[in-house]
Amino acid sequence: MSLIMKDVRLTYPDGDRRLVALDDVSLTVEPGEIVAVTGPSGSGKSSLLAVAGALVTAESGTVAVAGTDVTGLGQKDRDRLRRDRVGFVFQQANLLAALTALDQLLLVAHVTGAPKAAARTRAMELLDYVGLAAKAHRRPGRLSGGERQRVAVARALMGEPALLLVDEPTSALDAERGHDVIALLRDATRERRTATVVVTHDLRHLDLLDRAMEMRDGTLTPS
Ligand code: ADP
Ligand code: MG
Repeated sequence: MSLIMKDVRLTYPDGDRRLVALDDVSLTVEPGEIVAVTGPSGSGKSSLLAVAGALVTAESGTVAVAGTDVTGLGQKDRDRLRRDRVGFVFQQANLLAALTALDQLLLVAHVTGAPKAAARTRAMELLDYVGLAAKAHRRPGRLSGGERQRVAVARALMGEPALLLVDEPTSALDAERGHDVIALLRDATRERRTATVVVTHDLRHLDLLDRAMEMRDGTLTPS
């Protein structure tokens, strides 16, 4: 299993009280499986991804990523696990304006210390995979919104993640581009054997995915 979350609880300070963001959330995702998480704004979807990707530590419960129990790790080991095993894609592609599509990917390899020639080969292979080989040398300003999200997906795949966490990737896109990005994530999940969690508002895409879960007030249930 690439992601196992069991009875995860997370709260944030909220004045004199605490706001329960995740209320005993359990979720298991296997390699090659893509799961949707839907639910209203403020229900805890992004918090779920933050805990799954070891960005935030759960108050109680367990989280295991690619067979490693995250809950027991110190900060350094958690950072390493996230870097080596987790890919993130956010609502906005968060690309650096000054870098070409290719360089966005090479930056990841630079951070992880991957050998340069191999990184370049892999980056070009991934840009080709997301349909952007011909635009590898364009900066974000000369890419469409859909293309920028494709670069973000390719970048998230650079480190060969076991876990791919995607937060509302289509909210800035029209229906057709949104559909294409979700289809790309599904294909990548199958072909690259990631365990993928996609937070989405758009119920039209759900038929492309394996399962849908719904978050309400910090509680996750099958929908
Ligand atoms: P969603 O992604 O479904 O919109 P979030 O996980 O972002 O929901 O937020 C869940 C709840 O936790 C919301 O009420 C939000 O205001 C609150 N929240 C999120 N992040 C923080 C934070 N860093 N500090 C305090 N409250 C937060
Ligand atoms: Mg959110």
